[in-house]
Amino acid sequence: MQTHSVNAYRRGLAAAECAWLTINLGAIARNYQKLCALAAGTRVMATVKADAYGLGIEQVGPALVRAGCETFFVALVAEGARLRRILDDNGLSADIYVLNGFQTGSEAAFAAASLFPVLNSLEQVNAWRALGAPLPAALHIDTGMNRLGLSPQDAEAIDPAAVSGLNLSLVMSHLACADDPADPKNEHQRNLFETLSKPFQGIPKSLCNSAGVLLGDAYHFDVIRPGLALYGGAPSRSKSEEFEPVVTLSSKILQVRQIDKEQTVGYGATHRAAGPARIATLGIGYADGYRWGLGGKARGFLGETGVPVVGRISMDLTSVDVSHVPQGAAQPGDVVTLLDHRITINDAAAVAGTIPYEILTGLGARLERTYVDGAPTHVPPPAGGAV
Ligand SMILES: *Cc1c(COP(=O)(O)O)cnc(C)c1O
Repeated sequence: MQTHSVNAYRRGLAAAECAWLTINLGAIARNYQKLCALAAGTRVMATVKADAYGLGIEQVGPALVRAGCETFFVALVAEGARLRRILDDNGLSADIYVLNGFQTGSEAAFAAASLFPVLNSLEQVNAWRALGAPLPAALHIDTGMNRLGLSPQDAEAIDPAAVSGLNLSLVMSHLACADDPADPKNEHQRNLFETLSKPFQGIPKSLCNSAGVLLGDAYHFDVIRPGLALYGGAPSRSKSEEFEPVVTLSSKILQVRQIDKEQTVGYGATHRAAGPARIATLGIGYADGYRWGLGGKARGFLGETGVPVVGRISMDLTSVDVSHVPQGAAQPGDVVTLLDHRITINDAAAVAGTIPYEILTGLGARLERTYVDGAPTHVPPPAGGAV
């Protein structure tokens, strides 16, 4: 794994053409350790589907193994095969589960990369068993998502003795409303999972994603499988736990324009200057994942000064009002930060009317990605503190 020093990162800035992402692998490791502490006594597996939520499995996977993670969840067989190659190349090993299940015809791909399926139906259970001496597999019981997994009826009908030939290594379910601790569905699913998983004696049980971990010990069972919290997302609406921000999104000023009262900025002329103003145009747009919905609502930072995003976001460009920044401090080539500990992925999601998962996975392929192993840039406030 290549981990650049912060100095190398600073030098790298000069090379970035317009916009770039800095991903702090140290923060991911600390978030992993925080989850270990929150669910002490459980095994903490890591969910790294969709290229580690858009942050880059090639760097994030090895960093998590080095932080102590021994097991991963991906969505697709192809993602699992890629992660296996990455781990092999780094001389690392880990177990890898494929959440989207086992499809007949993919057995060779599972075997080649030593991937473990999450069996989501009786058909998948039977097809996997028919293979003879299979690799370990997880059994997914649906307790209320009505998405993937065996229905409660199918789970009850399954004879735990008959699955002994299956080499079951995990029994799991998934919470629908864990981000809202007050939702009664949480307890209902927890109790149903406990009942339905009870016959599978001696096999580790798992119910929690990131938000589930914050519901407390009764939900933790043997194994937790967080994703979002590792990457700095706020899993719960109650905001009682803060995870360290992982991404910094930066963009260069390409041009600065002085405009007068009544002049407008950008498509649709949606922003009209109330008086003389200076508008900086940044080299980032919705094609980079800086979402259209942020137009006219978000803000960035130029140094310590907040600069409001004005007008609509274009495909490759974004306008910010720099009237309050000293003229010499807002020049072409200067850097405006659009996501960091001051404007988190959670803040941006709230402004854009989406969720932090979509902000992360939407960060564009065009953004240059630099990996650092940095110290915390921001010490989270104590529980319940103001953000
Ligand atoms: C994505 C996913 C997770 C991780 O969820 P987070 O909310 O990102 O922590 C865990 N389990 C399953 C089944 C998932 O699909």
